[in-house]
Amino acid sequence: MPSLYIDGSWTAGSGGSAEVINPFDASVVETVDQAGPDDVERAVIAARTAFDTGPWRTTSAPERGALLRRVAELLVRDKEEIARTETLDTGKTLVESRIDVDDVTAVFRYYADLADKEAGRIVDTGQSNVLARVVHEPVGVCVLITPWNYPLLQLSWKVAPALAAGNTCVIKPSEVTPLTSILLVKLLEEAGVPRGVVNIVLGDGRSVGAPLTEHAAVDMVSFTGGLATGQAIIRASAATVKRVAVELGGKNPNIVFADTDLDLAADWALTAVFLHAGQVCSAGARLIVEDALHDDLVAEIGRRAERIRLGNGFDDKSESGPLVSAAHRAKIEDFVASAQAEGARLVVGGKRPDEPELQQGFFYRPTVFADVRRDMRVIREETFGPILTVERFSTEAEAIELGNDTEYGLAGAVWTADMGRAHRVAGALRHGTVWINDYHPYVPGAEWGGFKRSGNGRELGPTGLAEYQEHKHVWHNTAPAPARWFKG
Ligand code: NAD
Repeated sequence: MPSLYIDGSWTAGSGGSAEVINPFDASVVETVDQAGPDDVERAVIAARTAFDTGPWRTTSAPERGALLRRVAELLVRDKEEIARTETLDTGKTLVESRIDVDDVTAVFRYYADLADKEAGRIVDTGQSNVLARVVHEPVGVCVLITPWNYPLLQLSWKVAPALAAGNTCVIKPSEVTPLTSILLVKLLEEAGVPRGVVNIVLGDGRSVGAPLTEHAAVDMVSFTGGLATGQAIIRASAATVKRVAVELGGKNPNIVFADTDLDLAADWALTAVFLHAGQVCSAGARLIVEDALHDDLVAEIGRRAERIRLGNGFDDKSESGPLVSAAHRAKIEDFVASAQAEGARLVVGGKRPDEPELQQGFFYRPTVFADVRRDMRVIREETFGPILTVERFSTEAEAIELGNDTEYGLAGAVWTADMGRAHRVAGALRHGTVWINDYHPYVPGAEWGGFKRSGNGRELGPTGLAEYQEHKHVWHNTAPAPARWFKG
């Protein structure tokens, strides 16, 4: 079946084909079509025409919500197939992929419910003859560009609110992991999305992503991915003054005070960073530990990290899968080499696994560095892999200072039994999400996004819907009289 969906039809496109690789063993999962320049053009024009002349934008908000609810039902029906595809595509464990599909379903339900509850408001002008309303309207044609680590999840955070608000869209998934995005578009089609409202084009960032961000007929780009790509997209959108929402990387502090139970701290330090082999934008990659607990915690983490079972995502015994690609593993190996060259102490890992059955795939052992300095590259840059660094502090002020000493500001956590301290630190951290005595959870109703160079938008929650809306002021003078400003 052709892999591009443009103007209500599945099509092969003119950009040739590309293989999708299974990170577990480097085998080919599927060969997918690639978009050529004419496909990109057709997709944008289809979305433009559907927005300007089609029924979607004027479909009532409850009806739009009903369609999203149907998508949620289809996701429940196809959960297992979608989860298996996500595991083949990304290498993550099937347990994680199933959680992803549940989360995606919850996001569709959330925006289905919110679709008809954010219509706008009446403004009190102080003038009895004036009715002033602020109405919410769709932005227009939205380009949705997503990364490879949570392909389906990141897409749902964009496409559900974009459709709830009445926009049309062109989806550009990561070229590394396009398969579940194609499946989602099939479900949107089955749920009854009108022709041209949703389009998907496949291909890399240079030949397909960039032309979409430059296109004059596109009103908005919503992007999740790396910092350098986000900066390029902001630059590319300047000529046409598009709305741009970027969700970028993170270098996330996980701060542990010494009054935290050792078992709890060690358990969550590993979960915070090594979930999905560390390929999580909010991964707790910087463990920042109070002096009194530091040595015991480093020893315990080293002991446990050594025992993490890597393997096939379809094997129940696997606790973590491989990295997404050979190229990404090479980046991780480069980070490890630079940390060692700069004098960090390798506690555990720092190598590929020895098991013969893992040699074909892109595996890398969970790696922990202690005795790091903050000027080291491994502390300053997002590694996006299974590397944990451990820093130490002696005062609350120092913990906050370290936690904020990054150009990023996506997420972080604080662990302590002292609730006053917990909330002081949470308040002082310049990150978009702060967990207290927890790590990772999020809900569709709470906003997600970055401070500083982690991004400029918010996904999820009411703000995640507002991102796809124009707020228009309609002023109605019910008893007009001449102004007589000009006397003639
Ligand atoms: P990436 O920036 O390399 O690619 C992301 C997407 O952008 C892909 O679809 C790619 O094809 C496309 N792209 C590349 N160049 C482009 C260009 N010039 N114009 C338009 N599109 C272009 O990122 P990645 O390696 O796929 O994902 C990893 C990054 O994503 C990490 O930095 C991670 O922190 C970030 N991320 C952030 C969040 C968040 O919520 N803030 C969530 C997940 C991932």
